[in-house]
Amino acid sequence: MEKTGRKLKILWQPPIWLDLPLLSLKYLLLFFFLYLIAWKMTLGQIESFYTSPYNLAVDAKMLLFFMAPSGLSAGIMIFLVIISFVIRNFWCRYLCPYGALLGLLALVGPFQVKRDQETCIDCKKCEKTCPASISLTTRKTIRTGECIGCTECVSVCPVEDCLTLALPGKKKNSILLLPAAVLTTFFLFYAVSLGTGHWYSEVPPEVMKKFYSIIAELPHP
Ligand code: SF4
Ligand code: SF4
Repeated sequence: MEKTGRKLKILWQPPIWLDLPLLSLKYLLLFFFLYLIAWKMTLGQIESFYTSPYNLAVDAKMLLFFMAPSGLSAGIMIFLVIISFVIRNFWCRYLCPYGALLGLLALVGPFQVKRDQETCIDCKKCEKTCPASISLTTRKTIRTGECIGCTECVSVCPVEDCLTLALPGKKKNSILLLPAAVLTTFFLFYAVSLGTGHWYSEVPPEVMKKFYSIIAELPHP
């Protein structure tokens, strides 16, 4: 989408006075959901929702939602597709509460992109490539909730070791360290879940079959 927008010359970067308030929307949505769940619901209500037929079949409910959207939902989805040709990653950048949660985690994550101010030639290739539209050339260390750790900026930088991925206190670590850490974390969780009997669902397939057969009627608890 971004490439098509660029080709059509309709790609637009909102100015900072508009970008910042728009960026806050996803955090407001995240805090709204956290407020509802952690503040307004009791532990009993959370447990009851967690084990409800609605929650157990919620993935299939989501599929149904996208297969037969209402007029309003379809309109919103079409708007999001069209606006993404004009503003890069509109949904992820401004509206996704899950993205906001990952952004907050990124702030405390161990990996950082670092820029060597001495060797930077200010070509701005990194900024043009960055999917999160981060202004890299004004920073020495990229520590922001908007960085998704894609390392695109590192790979396009024409100056060797000017942009690097590094742990705190280090100037450079291997770029393979990040995927290695992600895979290790995933397989660690997988092994622990499997070993403690938490990986497979305790709900028998026959029960899920029954829920799926009446999925359209399953009410929100
Ligand atoms: S791509 Fe590298 S050299 Fe170019 S502005 Fe970014 S950090 Fe500097
Ligand atoms: S790692 Fe990706 S998101 Fe982060 S600054 Fe570089 S290009 Fe942008």
